[in-house]
Amino acid sequence: MLHYNQSTMLPRFLLLLLLVTASACTSGDRAAKRPNIIFIFTDDHTAAALSAYGSAVNVTPNLDRIAQEGMRFDQCLVTNSICAPSRAVILTGKHSHINGQLTNGNRFDGAQQTFPKLLQTAGYQTGIIGKWHLRSEPTGFDHWQVLIGQGPYYNPRFLIPGDTIRIEGYTTNIITDLALDWLENGRDVTKPFMLMYQHKAPHREWHPGPDHYEMYADVEIPEPPTLFDDYSNRASPAAEQGMTIARHLNVTDLKLQAPRSMNAEQTALWEEVYGPRNEEFHAANLQGDDLTRWKYQRYVKEYLRTVAGVDDNVGRLLDYLDESGLSDNTVVIYSSDQGWYLGEHGWYDKRWMYEESLRTPLLVRWPGEVEPGSVNNAMVSNLDFAATFLDLAGVAVPSDLQGRSLKPLFTTDTPEDWRTSHYYHYYEYPGYHCVERHYGVRTERYKLIYFYTRDEWELFDLEADPMELNSVYTDEAYAVTVTELKAELARLREQYAVPEDERPTGPCIPNERGAPIRNPQQ
Ligand code: CA
Repeated sequence: MLHYNQSTMLPRFLLLLLLVTASACTSGDRAAKRPNIIFIFTDDHTAAALSAYGSAVNVTPNLDRIAQEGMRFDQCLVTNSICAPSRAVILTGKHSHINGQLTNGNRFDGAQQTFPKLLQTAGYQTGIIGKWHLRSEPTGFDHWQVLIGQGPYYNPRFLIPGDTIRIEGYTTNIITDLALDWLENGRDVTKPFMLMYQHKAPHREWHPGPDHYEMYADVEIPEPPTLFDDYSNRASPAAEQGMTIARHLNVTDLKLQAPRSMNAEQTALWEEVYGPRNEEFHAANLQGDDLTRWKYQRYVKEYLRTVAGVDDNVGRLLDYLDESGLSDNTVVIYSSDQGWYLGEHGWYDKRWMYEESLRTPLLVRWPGEVEPGSVNNAMVSNLDFAATFLDLAGVAVPSDLQGRSLKPLFTTDTPEDWRTSHYYHYYEYPGYHCVERHYGVRTERYKLIYFYTRDEWELFDLEADPMELNSVYTDEAYAVTVTELKAELARLREQYAVPEDERPTGPCIPNERGAPIRNPQQ
């Protein structure tokens, strides 16, 4: 599709000249027109905290610009809802059991094929700035400045080729500064580029930037309807995890000791440290659900403040693209490594195959190609990103990739043979938050989950039970559905060549912040 033009207003000879010039383009000219790609990526950003998706808790005007000027995907599902594994899936276009990054504990094998390497070979300049989180050094990038491990929210140290550098300030702002500097001064302007601009935010422990300390100070954030989920009518793992707002957020997360009964001496000491403004908390002496509500407000406000920092900085990037003239030929893609629980089911964190962490935001802007304000409801995945980037660059997609290019969905209708089921597999148990290993299949209407080390199943009818509160696995009315979904699950496991998971498992008991207690038997 051409950009909107006013050719009818041009003198005829000029129009002819344009046509002749266009037809005389060499392949080199066409290559020069290959689009730039900017992949804006965050860590743990749920669609429920993005106003383009109808957030009830915040507004994100800059991220919304990408949706308003492009396409919003409503069913982007991850294959393994955890940080490092998702990044490895994106780089390789392959499931965790193929790329080797089953859990956060693995070290990414950077010798394998990745889409940045293939883009490099095809003449793209490739860069990654910000969070990497794959332990090994980045490969396939002409330019890289990455946080070490999780990286802090303030005064971060970056790993660069052969060295490290420490920069003072707020990490979300600094990552943007570095990205803008590379775009303006660092890149080779004769080549198209692919830049991965990747934030740490809004990952735990949610330290806001100076511009957002007081944001939401006088506001009460709405609670999700499942904040006090009791985990009945489901398999055993949902009740046994360690990621509740009620019991697994500590003083580091909340930035304040949760109010509780203290004797006079403790109260005096506490007030000496934190000041009398917290007397109201002593007076309230919160317990039970009220205490959980207080923690929810503390936690969710900090989370949303870090999202606001991302949103402001995405605005800076989009403004730069406009001012520099890069917007027209740059595909801007926004996503996060997975979804997140913003209090749904009483939780924070991710990991489960339930909707809040299975779904991740996906917004795509490509001026002149993607229709502004469009919405796509096809079942897409982070498994598809690598093939998409290659396709956008005109690079042949290797046959061993397990995802499929989304480019046709950007520009035309969803292909008729697009997938109608999605395979999911979570491995990190025992591990943080003690979420049991599981795999499963999701279709438009149903979700079948298998906790395979316990031989327990769940089935959710998403149409009748969109919040997934009532497994109907043993309900006779769904017997045929169970049979069909098990067959589909087996088919997907064969298609993706999934081996049996034979690693030793459990036990796993979480401590007060959700970390597994070592040697719980002692
Ligand atoms: Ca993450």
